[in-house]
Amino acid sequence: MRLTSIKLVGFKSFVDPVTVPFDTDMTAIVGPNGCGKSNVIDAVRWVMGESSAKYLRGESMADVIFNGSTGRKPVGQASIELIFDNREGKLGGAWAQYAEIAVRRLVTRDGQSQYFFNGQKCRRRDIADLFLGTGLGPRSYAIIGQGMISRLVEARPEELRATLEEAAGISRYKERRRETENR
Ligand code: ATP
Ligand code: MG
Repeated sequence: MRLTSIKLVGFKSFVDPVTVPFDTDMTAIVGPNGCGKSNVIDAVRWVMGESSAKYLRGESMADVIFNGSTGRKPVGQASIELIFDNREGKLGGAWAQYAEIAVRRLVTRDGQSQYFFNGQKCRRRDIADLFLGTGLGPRSYAIIGQGMISRLVEARPEELRATLEEAAGISRYKERRRETENR
């Protein structure tokens, strides 16, 4: 499974539609301070369901929407789509049949988010479910942000355990059990 591209529209500094391709095994994004490198990482976290504005370096969810610059008016919505090559079928039990998986999140100024799976509207939960146990997800160890190593070193035992459980692939089953028990 690999991330093959990210499509950004109206997200933070990416006002015009842009596709960032990841054609090779390693991709480096370089550029001057403030050009939007970290915004790309925020986009990946956000589309996977991150619900804390703080984790996206903003104050409210609407802060992810392009809010204008000299000569450009703010826009009303932001959208990010991640495209995965899933030919090995590693993503999503029932969804393993799809060779390509596209996950999209759209937010409007009222703070309402909509999620899409291969173009079809779905729930945030479906997206969370898709990534559980794969090592991907909004707070996953697959994205190592600034300060994350020291947070892990200083983590409380239960936080450390959650990370290990996700890495071992058992968080998906724990979540299912929790849901069953709550029924
Ligand atoms: P550094 O090298 O300093 O880490 P960077 O390339 O990671 O820089 P980012 O933090 O990704 O830069 O981008 C910051 C830029 O994004 C700033 O110029 C900021 O004004 C812009 N930005 C963030 N949110 C929005 C928004 N909602 N609308 C418009 N621009 C935004
Ligand atoms: Mg940065």
